Amino acid sequence: MTLLTAPTDARSVIDALHTGLFLNGEWVDAEHGKTFSVENPATGEVLTRVADGSVADAGRAIQAAGDAQADWARTAPRARSEILRRAYELIIERSEELAAIMTAEMGKPLAEARGEVAYGAEFFRWFSEEAVRINGDYTTTGDGRNRILVSRVPVGPCVLVTPWNFPLAMGTRKIGPAVAAGCTMVFKPAAQTPLTSLALVQILLEAGLPAGVLNVVTTSNSSSVVSTWMSSGIARKVSFTGSTEVGKILLRQAAENVMRSSMELGGNAPFIVCADADVDRAVDGAMTAKLRNMGEACTAANRFLVHRSVAAEFTEKLAKRMAVLRVGDGSEPGTDIGPLVDQAGLDKVQSFVDDAVERGASVAIGGSRPDRPGYFYPPTVLADVSADAALMTAEIFGPVAPVIPFDDEADAVRIANDTEWGLVGYLFTQDIDRALRLSDELEVGMVGLNSGLVSNPAAPFGGIKQSGLGREGGRSGIDEFLEQKYVAIPRSRT
Ligand code: NAP
Ligand code: MG
Repeated sequence: MTLLTAPTDARSVIDALHTGLFLNGEWVDAEHGKTFSVENPATGEVLTRVADGSVADAGRAIQAAGDAQADWARTAPRARSEILRRAYELIIERSEELAAIMTAEMGKPLAEARGEVAYGAEFFRWFSEEAVRINGDYTTTGDGRNRILVSRVPVGPCVLVTPWNFPLAMGTRKIGPAVAAGCTMVFKPAAQTPLTSLALVQILLEAGLPAGVLNVVTTSNSSSVVSTWMSSGIARKVSFTGSTEVGKILLRQAAENVMRSSMELGGNAPFIVCADADVDRAVDGAMTAKLRNMGEACTAANRFLVHRSVAAEFTEKLAKRMAVLRVGDGSEPGTDIGPLVDQAGLDKVQSFVDDAVERGASVAIGGSRPDRPGYFYPPTVLADVSADAALMTAEIFGPVAPVIPFDDEADAVRIANDTEWGLVGYLFTQDIDRALRLSDELEVGMVGLNSGLVSNPAAPFGGIKQSGLGREGGRSGIDEFLEQKYVAIPRSRT
């Protein structure tokens, strides 16, 4: 394979980053000059240190967002649109730098990091187009006596909290609609991956985002910083992506101040392969749905429910495809599977595999970690996994594909829905009736029909059950950041 461009040197890009807090349009140190380190999960090397925001710093951030809200809400939609458009273009221009940072701090292979840069940038382009299409309504009451004027106004200062697995896209998916709607923000990126977010802030600053609109606090003490914002009385909304456990904590805090809440939480996606499926296509889909981001995705296929008549063929073909993948440092050319994010993630994945094997599963490929430094785990396929294996009811968050054979469709649906989560389901069949019937029956917010990928800025991304509240992207993405205001106007009688 020849590379079109040599990989950008992450070290020099990271050394050039601002690593302070971003408060009211300025880069500043954290209180007492405190910092914490950011590591490369492929090597354990410390990449740099970033400001460690305190409760006092958090207070300054939310104050700045509150102070900036009224002016920001009055800006022309076109002005907000053009900031996002410029930021989109700058992200594309700096794709290589952003990808290098992301791979260094998070581990995903460069090719995937580049893919995330393109995907993340699209949210800015999409919401730049939405900013100028915020419509209202003007109607008459049923009795004809009044006019109803409805406008849509920004919800107000927003608390944004994002996870480490998609360091760029999870930020742009929230910042994009907030900017488009005219909301100010306080933003806390994940402690393990703050650098991509800091690079993004720099881009928004260059794109012309006014001071105070976006305030960023990196911290090693997320619960104090975020709860300061949640209880401030200034924030009107919280948009969170992360675990269901932390989402519930934030929902409780939101209840105290009756705040609007958007929650993108965990998943436990079923991947159903019916007897009539095109098995090769299902294997293609499985490769994406399982291995994107090393399996560290809320949308990752977690349980492969495969009709018994094709289970052996599917398992064998999937194992064969996975066998040729190269595990290694994501910054090295040719790497397909990078390290997991940390030791805890690695231990969890190994314990799920051991547990499934103890309960009767057989290992078709992979199954044990390589003897090398870094948090690496190989692509793994487990055949004949029993229904009581621990990984059936937990997010694996690693490159492990458990195959569970089923005999009839009703059984597959019952197992698929037997979880408190409901983010996404994947369905492989060539029968149109079955496809529509099963899409109806799956208790999920999204279905990948003969597709291993559902994420797209133009689509409403989100889950039901304990996978979350609200949608990001699509036509409804901006609604999460808007309130309706209704003015009653009596009709004049003359
Ligand atoms: P997490 O532990 O819930 O962390 C997410 C964010 O919340 C991080 O910024 C974290 O800060 C912060 N946080 C942790 N505890 C907090 C607290 N008590 N109060 C306020 N903030 C707190 O999740 P994760 O392990 O980083 O990410 C993986 C999870 O995200 C998985 O469950 C995955 O399914 C989910 N996810 C969902 C979607 C979706 O769209 N549905 C997308 C991606 C990921 P620190 O970094 O300091 O811990
Ligand atoms: Mg965490």
